Parts: sequence; C-alpha cells; structure tokens
Amino acid sequence: MEAVAPFKEAEDALKDAGSGEFDLCFQCGLCTVSCPWNIVRTFIPHKIMRQAQFGLVDLEDEGCWLCTTCNVCVSRCPRGVPITDIMRAARVIFLEYQYNMAPASLRSAMGSLASDGNPWGGKRENRGAWVGDLDIKTFTRDTELLYFPGCVPAYDPQLGSIARATASILKKTGANFGILGTTESCCGESVRKAGNESLFEQLAKSNIDVFNTSGVTEIIVTSPHCYTTFTDDYPKLGGTYTVLHISQYLAGLIDQGNLTFTRELNKKVVYHDPCYLGRHNGIYDEPRRVLHSIPGLEVIDEIDSRENSLCCGGGGGRIWMETTKGERFSDILVEQAIDLGADILATACPYCILNFKDSVLTMDKGDVLEIKDITEIVQEVI
Ligand code: SF4
Ligand code: SF4
Repeated sequence: MEAVAPFKEAEDALKDAGSGEFDLCFQCGLCTVSCPWNIVRTFIPHKIMRQAQFGLVDLEDEGCWLCTTCNVCVSRCPRGVPITDIMRAARVIFLEYQYNMAPASLRSAMGSLASDGNPWGGKRENRGAWVGDLDIKTFTRDTELLYFPGCVPAYDPQLGSIARATASILKKTGANFGILGTTESCCGESVRKAGNESLFEQLAKSNIDVFNTSGVTEIIVTSPHCYTTFTDDYPKLGGTYTVLHISQYLAGLIDQGNLTFTRELNKKVVYHDPCYLGRHNGIYDEPRRVLHSIPGLEVIDEIDSRENSLCCGGGGGRIWMETTKGERFSDILVEQAIDLGADILATACPYCILNFKDSVLTMDKGDVLEIKDITEIVQEVI
C-alpha cells in the first residue's frame, strides 16, 4: 500500500468528496496560526491544503486525524477555503486506501455505530434506559415535539442526567413531547466528519425513515452536533424538520415568561461556547440568556469566548480518539475556569461535558470545579 495517494486519483477523490475549493488557498498560513493544536504541539493545516493542490495526500501524516473541525481557521481564512471539508475529504481517502491504519478507537466506534447505532458499544435495546423512572411518552403522530437526546446522554452513565434534566424541564413547562427510544440511531455527524460517508448515510437514512413514518416535524436536541447535521445534511437526504437546540427552546420560554425559577443559585459560572453551537451555527446569546436569567448566578465568559472560543477537543470524531496528556484543550479550559474563580464550568454540548469531566478527574480538580450542562443548572432552580 502506498503512503501517498497517487496524484490524479487523490486530487479527483478530494474533489469528489466535496473539497474542490482548496485551489483558493494562497498559503498565507493564517489557518496554522489560528489552529488550537499549535498551543500544545505543531500542526500545519496549510501544508495539507498545499498537498491537496498538488494531489499528494500524505496518508502517513497523522495530521489527517488531528483536526477537530472547530472551524476557527475557516472563520479566519481570507480566501474562504472550506478547510474542514478538505480535512474530511482527506479522511475519506485515508479510509478508502488504508482503513486498517486509521486510529483503532475510531474503527471500534465505527463498528459499533454500524451494528448498534451508537459509538459506545451500547445495546440498541438500552437506548431509552436513561429515562429511568421518569414517565416519558413515546413519540406518536399527535405529539408535537420530538426530544432527541443523542448518543452520549443516552448511553453514558454520567451524562444521562442531561437527558433527564431536559425531559424534566419539558414536562414541568407543559411541552407536548415524546422520545423515540430504541428506534433512534446516532445522528451520524461525527462519523461523517471522520470520513465515513457511507456509514453516515446509513445512520441518517435510518433516522429519517423513523422520523418521517412517525410524523416528526419539530425536534429539540441536546447536542449541537445533532443540530448541525439535522439542519445541514438531513434535508439533502429527504429529512427536513424544524430543529431547535435546547438553549434556543429555553431562551424562547424565558422570553415568553413561561420559564420561572423558584430558587436562587449563588454560584459563579463560566460559560464555554461549544464550537458546533457557536462558530458553526451562530448560537451564542441563547445559552447566555438562560444562565443570566437564573437568580443569584454570576455568569462570566471564558478568556477566549464566542467566535474565539477554544475547542474542547471533541469534534471531527476526535471524541473517539485518544489525546495525549499535555495536549488536551479541555485541560487548558478547566485550568482557566479555576483561575477565573468559577464554581461551575457550564456548557451546552455533551462532547464538551465528556472532555471537561475527564479533565477534572485526571487533574484531580473534581472538588474545585463542577462541570454542568445548562439544563442541569436550570433543573436545579425551577
Ligand atoms: S488561511 Fe486560507 S488561504 Fe491562508 S493558508 Fe490557510 S487555507 Fe490557505
Ligand atoms: S478546524 Fe480547528 S482543528 Fe481543524 S485545522 Fe482548523 S483550526 Fe485546526
């Protein structure tokens, strides 16, 4: 097996994978200067753009798997190069040429997604187990809203609390909502960004089939990754829905006077902007409006916030790959939150929460800083 994909074949494959605009790159290097990897190690995205222009994709360059698709470089590129699309296309080629050389943990996640519809090895029949003793109905044709928790809250024993907090808030505010439980599959966003287009389509078509036959028109999601793929990719496959991230739904309730708080929370919280909520979808204000409306809560921004937010490290399929200690962006963000005097590091993405929880655990900071989804904070005070 050649380590470098042949010239014409690689160029065509990159274009087929949707990254034809790499020709726009004029090698200014701003993407490399902007990339968060260069805080912790060397990574040169503009080298990959150069390789793409010459049709020489170096399949032995581990940089192919580093990109978290955080979109900082895309937002700053003066030529409008869709850098994350090119990274995704390079991965498509990598998987086609030497699948067995892809990170083992990624291949394992893909195997589980193909067989059970989730990346964590959970059984399909347990997808609705997060519900516990909450009385939540299954979505039917006379249900208004579908709540789609996504794989992490559905399967991770620590993060089921996010799905339960969301469902409890929806119940308490009188929403007519239901869940799909065992018929729901992973949205497929991260596996697409990791380069496995056929597995993405398998997952997306399975969900679209269930949504359409169940009469789903409006979906509330916990994960910004589900939000992104439901709004960007599903319409091209026959699935068009109104999609709301839970922060948008809660901000709407607050604006209408339909979410009131019965308790104060006298704590200091730092809000972290998830890449896929903020930079990818421009949702910056709604989660802040929710937090600012809670009595007693002091809300502050991170050192780099909104458009400049530092990625947690979990996008682009990186959540399934090992990141060396000393190179974890989430460790930096946890350290900063502690330095800012926060009691809570809050965010609105399950991948960020997973990485932050892992950081406080490995840094032995669990008694100094709590990690919470905004829904868990709201649930405490309604
Ligand atoms: S910022 Fe854009 S134009 Fe500059 S090197 Fe990166 S991809 Fe090329
Ligand atoms: S998307 Fe983020 S991680 Fe990927 S190359 Fe751009 S700045 Fe780096």
